[in-house]
Amino acid sequence: MLYGKWRPRGFDEVVGQDHIVTTLRNALISGQVAHAYLFSGPRGTGKTTTARILARAVNCVNLAGGEPCNDCPSCRAIANGSALDLIEMDAASNRGIDDIRELREKVGFAPSDMTRKVYLLDEVHMLTGAAWNALLKTLEEPPPHAIFILATTELHNVPATILSRCQRHDFHRIPNEAIVRRLQFICGEEGFDFPEQGLLQVAIQSRGGARDAITLLEQVVARYGIAPSTDEVLEALGLVHDVRSEQLAGAIVDGDLAQALDIAREIADDGIDVARFTRETIDILRDVLPQVLRGRPREDSAYGALAANASATGGAAANIARAIQELARADFRTDPASPVPLEVACAASILGPVAIAAAVPAGAAVATPVTAGMPANGRPGVPAARAPAGAGTPDPALTREERFLQDLYEHCKMANTRLGAWLNGSCKVLSMDGDELELGFFLPVHMQKVDTDCRTLVEEQAELLLNRPVKLKVRLIEKEQQSRRAPRGGHLAEAAKALGAVPVGKDD
Ligand SMILES: [Zn+2]
Repeated sequence: MLYGKWRPRGFDEVVGQDHIVTTLRNALISGQVAHAYLFSGPRGTGKTTTARILARAVNCVNLAGGEPCNDCPSCRAIANGSALDLIEMDAASNRGIDDIRELREKVGFAPSDMTRKVYLLDEVHMLTGAAWNALLKTLEEPPPHAIFILATTELHNVPATILSRCQRHDFHRIPNEAIVRRLQFICGEEGFDFPEQGLLQVAIQSRGGARDAITLLEQVVARYGIAPSTDEVLEALGLVHDVRSEQLAGAIVDGDLAQALDIAREIADDGIDVARFTRETIDILRDVLPQVLRGRPREDSAYGALAANASATGGAAANIARAIQELARADFRTDPASPVPLEVACAASILGPVAIAAAVPAGAAVATPVTAGMPANGRPGVPAARAPAGAGTPDPALTREERFLQDLYEHCKMANTRLGAWLNGSCKVLSMDGDELELGFFLPVHMQKVDTDCRTLVEEQAELLLNRPVKLKVRLIEKEQQSRRAPRGGHLAEAAKALGAVPVGKDD
């Protein structure tokens, strides 16, 4: 594994987090090491790596300039994973009170062969309430030999009482240039010959995470050898440009919802990864937006024409900002093959949630998924009944019909991922008694798709579930009014926030 091999061994090798490593090195030099640290930031930005370097540094007998020597017995023991006094705990799988209680019982014992006992608690936001309280007690009166390093990707889920006990360091997404430099170094050492443009693409795809970047580099080498061309890198990254992402961005800029929906459907029909396609579209709009705001296309932009076209329309910048926000909200986790979240995001991008709630007549329920059936995670497109239910166990909150539909969807999806996807959040069961199964659809396009393309699949799977012959009937319905929520407000403020952040890939 290339990543393991090139994991930074000292603070000087940590990429793109100079503000943090400088502080830590200075603390080590002056002997002012804190008892508790909280490292927050996106995945793959160096939190765990930095924590392990810190664990080595506080125990190193030859500490020089705040850097561990990587050669003394304790540096070596930590590096090869045999150190008893570095206790790493993944809070995602040890999240309960008992785990923290056990930690509390042992923390008092002196280190066995080092000077400091270092606890590294990863994914600490996963801890339960009781576990937080137990941990807080430990942090309030830590034994002098103990150092706690808490790491999290979700700072907002860490209680304020814990925050106040920790020295906090925020890890940033690593700039592309810094990742490229690190990749160039690794390529040099490994004897790889990559074009710079290819490395830049690897960096862009890794979205600020050095770990992902190195893993991607390795994947490219596995596929095309040590000297790939830029095209081969793009191919390996799955980036062979689908022109339709630019067409979709264009349709959104032009406010052409019909074309946008056509493209979304085509993409799903062709079996293309809708989530990745959506991210591509977001990237194009993010490239276009600053150009529109400045009122002039950027020379080196591949989307200058699109930006010029958008600039010609009043209010274009606000529309693009909203589109980025809506597309970034689309949640594909439940079913990556379904175009529904993308369709809903396009509708909300072009019409706006307020406008669609008011403007769409009964029956053409384009708007309803945006405002109705919003699952707890606040993402539109997947009604609550579709939200991942606890490891496939029946959810008692569901009606018999809802549970049947959930099962039907799972069965159909297993039999045929692409076709099964059309049932995802697109309909409800109107009747399922006798030899008929009647499904009500919210959008004509989904109804038609199920009616023509997957009728046999649905009937077969329904027969299996109900243990009797079933004939499928479909009709168009409107979603229930009572489950509607007030349209979301404050779009521009939220859009600005969305722009500051890198769009959600939710791959973490
Ligand atoms: Zn050492």
